Amino acid sequence: MKLFNTLTQSLEDFVPIDNTVRIYVCGVTPYDTTHLGHAFTYVSFDTLIRYLEHRGHTVRYVQNVTDIDDDIIRKSKELGLAWDELGHRETTRFLRDMDSLNVRRPDVYAKATEEIANIVTIVQGLIERGHAYVNDNCVFYSIKSDPDFGVMARSIGLNNYDAMLAIANERGNFPNDPRKHDPLDFVLWQAQAPGEPAWESPWGPGRPGWHIECSAMSMHYLGEQIDIHGGGSDLAFPHHTCEIAQSEHYTGKAPFSRFWLHTGMVYQDGEKMSKSLGNLTLVSNLLKDYTPDTIRVVLQQHHYRMPWECFPADLQGAAHIVETFAQVRALVGRDAQGENEMLRSRFKAAMENDLNTPEAILLLKEAAEHTLATHDLNAGAEILRLTSVLGLCV
Ligand SMILES: [Zn+2]
Repeated sequence: MKLFNTLTQSLEDFVPIDNTVRIYVCGVTPYDTTHLGHAFTYVSFDTLIRYLEHRGHTVRYVQNVTDIDDDIIRKSKELGLAWDELGHRETTRFLRDMDSLNVRRPDVYAKATEEIANIVTIVQGLIERGHAYVNDNCVFYSIKSDPDFGVMARSIGLNNYDAMLAIANERGNFPNDPRKHDPLDFVLWQAQAPGEPAWESPWGPGRPGWHIECSAMSMHYLGEQIDIHGGGSDLAFPHHTCEIAQSEHYTGKAPFSRFWLHTGMVYQDGEKMSKSLGNLTLVSNLLKDYTPDTIRVVLQQHHYRMPWECFPADLQGAAHIVETFAQVRALVGRDAQGENEMLRSRFKAAMENDLNTPEAILLLKEAAEHTLATHDLNAGAEILRLTSVLGLCV
């Protein structure tokens, strides 16, 4: 199977080292409800996982929940809720939305606040190895200690320090923090601010930085080296770039992940769908008007790496495809046993080509229309088997 590796910017043969495929996907920060951009990422990885299992692999899947960070603290103050109450409420909503879309739950759904001890161990190790420093009860990763820093950034076109710094600043970096030796150094442990939750550490009470959380959880639950690390394309830099640096310098083993897969951004009204812009299509609202299968199909009609915008006509088109599959189900019944080798091999060719779900959906749609015209029960049974590989519940 070929997958596009962001790190090498090329399609590579994905060959598991053993029968277990270890996948880590960066999860949500639970302070607001699930939008279509989240759904695109998690349905895309769900489809990949289902396909790998269909291929006969065992998949071990870990996802994190960033249940403490600046946004949660800010939002909980706005709402007058305890930070952990907000996190718990929004995590429950996220899982309910994902369950509705038939997204398989991860084997481990790891919370940052439950990983503090492991995070402290790794941060301590980075200090001992000369890659991090303590200043004013905070710990920072030292970019200058790491000549390799930015391999992932360079692969996505951020070719020099200034290019990296400009994007980092857009994505939450504080370049003028006087405690940092270099504007691009990033926080591994931040000292407690007045009134904020904190955990004990060798550097005083505080909380972990975001990047280190994912390294710690990935290593804890999947080992020091994994097969696939994924997330939205806006995570490639700085988040995943920082994860690679700190993980590989802590373990002394490279690569931290053999493949890096990134999903395209979803747009609305010409802008990236984001909480900060408020241009959100919420999954819970879409589910009032469309079935889970329709939403999955509209997501799968877009290749996972491509940015796209969702228009009402697309949802109506997807609803029509799902109706066609339902008619095939009505034709062949629940216990259909037939097979169609040609259809199966064409489906496989699409999916093995960097998970080309748009081609797979088109293939199944045309096959379904043909089946309804010809009453070919063998093809009908095969279509329904393959829709279930895509996670549809026809
Ligand atoms: Zn992450």
